[in-house]
Amino acid sequence: MARILVYNQDTNRMESFIRSESDAMPYNTNRTLRVREFRGSSKSNLLWTDKRTMQAWNSQRYIYGAPIYVGFAFKRPYEGGHGNQSQHYAGTAFDVGQNLTNAQRAVLRNSASRSGLWGYVEPVTLSPTWVHFDRRFGTPACSSGGYPIIRRGSRGNYVCIAQDDLNTLGFRTGGLDGVFGEQTYNAVRRYQASRGLAVDGIIGCNTWRSLQENVVGTGRTSTTID
Ligand SMILES: [Zn+2]
Repeated sequence: MARILVYNQDTNRMESFIRSESDAMPYNTNRTLRVREFRGSSKSNLLWTDKRTMQAWNSQRYIYGAPIYVGFAFKRPYEGGHGNQSQHYAGTAFDVGQNLTNAQRAVLRNSASRSGLWGYVEPVTLSPTWVHFDRRFGTPACSSGGYPIIRRGSRGNYVCIAQDDLNTLGFRTGGLDGVFGEQTYNAVRRYQASRGLAVDGIIGCNTWRSLQENVVGTGRTSTTID
């Protein structure tokens, strides 16, 4: 069983679902993406994604026209396994096609590139034995890329990442719900003060870098929220 938080871009609300491992993901059509596939090797019982990413998957699966084997999708930042500001931690990225030959994978990669559905499709030189594609949202806070700026009033799966980081580091946000409210704002300010960052309660380039450098791959702590 997993609790799945989904950011719905159409309503600007976070939605919460309870699903078993063999259930389809929320907003998935024709059971082409089960919870266990989206989870991959994540051990977390709390997962998150957004509606547009699920819709992109539906379209990608339709265009490709055959089942797509999913090796990895979601991971929580403390579980690690990806780059510090990877979209896998946002629940918007997929590593697929590990079961295919190189020629078959090239067909899948081309299908993803031509679909126009994804913000990024990794070139074969970087991931020769799987195909990575992801949706990414907003303008990256850092010029080098990564997550968008979030602040009080923001909602979505990037807020989930920040709340997860803050709680794991002991800066309690009073819940993990993808809504950047007063308690998250105060937690960000306390974190910034503790690290010598500008104390503005806004998670931009420097604060994102600091949070993710301190959390990615370090494992859960007693203050992590599930
Ligand atoms: Zn990937």
